[in-house]
Amino acid sequence: MPETAKKNVVLLGATGSIGGSTLRVLREHPGRLELVGVAAHSSHAELAAICHEFNVPHATLSSEAAYAEAKAANNFPANTQLGCGDAGLLEISTLAEADIVLVAVVGACGLKPTLAAIEAGKDIALANKELLVLGGAFVIEAAKRKGVRLLPTDSEHNAIFQCLEGHPQQHLDKLILTASGGQFRDAPIERLASVTPADATQHPNWSMGPKITVDSATMANKGLELIEAHWLFGLEPNRLEVVIHPQSIVHSFAQFIDGSILAQLSPPSMTFAIQHCLLYPDRAPGVDATMDFSKTFQLDFKAPDLKRFPCLQLAYDAMRTGGSGPAIFNAANEVAVERFLAHELSYLDIPRVIEQTLSNINSATATDLDALLEIDHRARQVARNFSTMDRLL
Ligand code: NDP
Ligand code: MG
Repeated sequence: MPETAKKNVVLLGATGSIGGSTLRVLREHPGRLELVGVAAHSSHAELAAICHEFNVPHATLSSEAAYAEAKAANNFPANTQLGCGDAGLLEISTLAEADIVLVAVVGACGLKPTLAAIEAGKDIALANKELLVLGGAFVIEAAKRKGVRLLPTDSEHNAIFQCLEGHPQQHLDKLILTASGGQFRDAPIERLASVTPADATQHPNWSMGPKITVDSATMANKGLELIEAHWLFGLEPNRLEVVIHPQSIVHSFAQFIDGSILAQLSPPSMTFAIQHCLLYPDRAPGVDATMDFSKTFQLDFKAPDLKRFPCLQLAYDAMRTGGSGPAIFNAANEVAVERFLAHELSYLDIPRVIEQTLSNINSATATDLDALLEIDHRARQVARNFSTMDRLL
């Protein structure tokens, strides 16, 4: 396909935060990018509005109840084919006319549609990190076998991808992921015990969905991203580092064996990474204004305090353990965050749930996808059974 050919895009998670930023990119480049399929879980009115605006021929809702509501409301355009459930998500991920599938659903539910899209020969723009933490071995193997592009859309990985272009792997020494440190980076440590879901879903720099905003506060997000970097760039844990960078302007660093370090910079908006992936390998003017060097600003860096961020330490441990350790970490974290947001658990229970789940489940490597999904299922059960009494153990 020539670099400037029009691409047909499928957007999984169209009604979310990444979904919204992607729509802004699509509005800017109507001659280059065409939306041919959209998926959401239950936000049917929002999905219908997107179908009207972009004249989208295929849409799907993974919630059957939302699908029934949408049918009753009759709010989708007459020429949009509406699917539902797991089957609908798989169907839209493998649409014959799609060139690239942007995966921006939240959580491990993204794994099967992504594998299906790869098997169907689609390029993937990957915002969702949980699916790679769960099934990285399967995703990387399938992408290599099918010869499709796996374009990193998470800002840190997109930055590294840009820094590594044109450099042979043997010249790379290590990767350093930047982290904002989230909303409690400098809060008195005693305050963490009383953090509420409302506090933990406000981020100082980024406007994101609730799950990743909580993950940023605990730094589980950076833990997931270390594992994501391991799969995307093929580096072992001892060559992956994290540095706190409160301004979220440097999106990560690649350090080479001669000591030189390359970085990628932009203001904290996901449109830069999303557009880079969708137009890759071409470039075009972006949606958001870039850095203004006529104004004075500061870039600060400091090492993370692993006592304040036990989830980051647990992610490192899970990554070093290998096997199913990262999958168990991810499942436990997803459940712990869900239960925290539902006011069932405290903020400080999140690392406790992860630790207990990791120590309860054997982390032997899963040899096939079914075995992996079984481990994910068991880890979720253990994490759901965590009770506040377990704090005393
Ligand atoms: P949001 O919570 O804002 O949006 C999630 C989207 O996924 C919604 O469209 C939601 O639909 C849909 N969805 C949720 N569950 C399912 C399901 N079972 N089947 C189909 N669709 C589903 O999340 P974000 O946009 O913040 O994050 C999306 C992913 O991107 C996450 O993995 C996150 O870690 C990653 N990411 C996000 C960044 C950001 O800036 N937000 C930055 C880097 C990575 P509905 O509205 O109907 O619930
Ligand atoms: Mg990120």
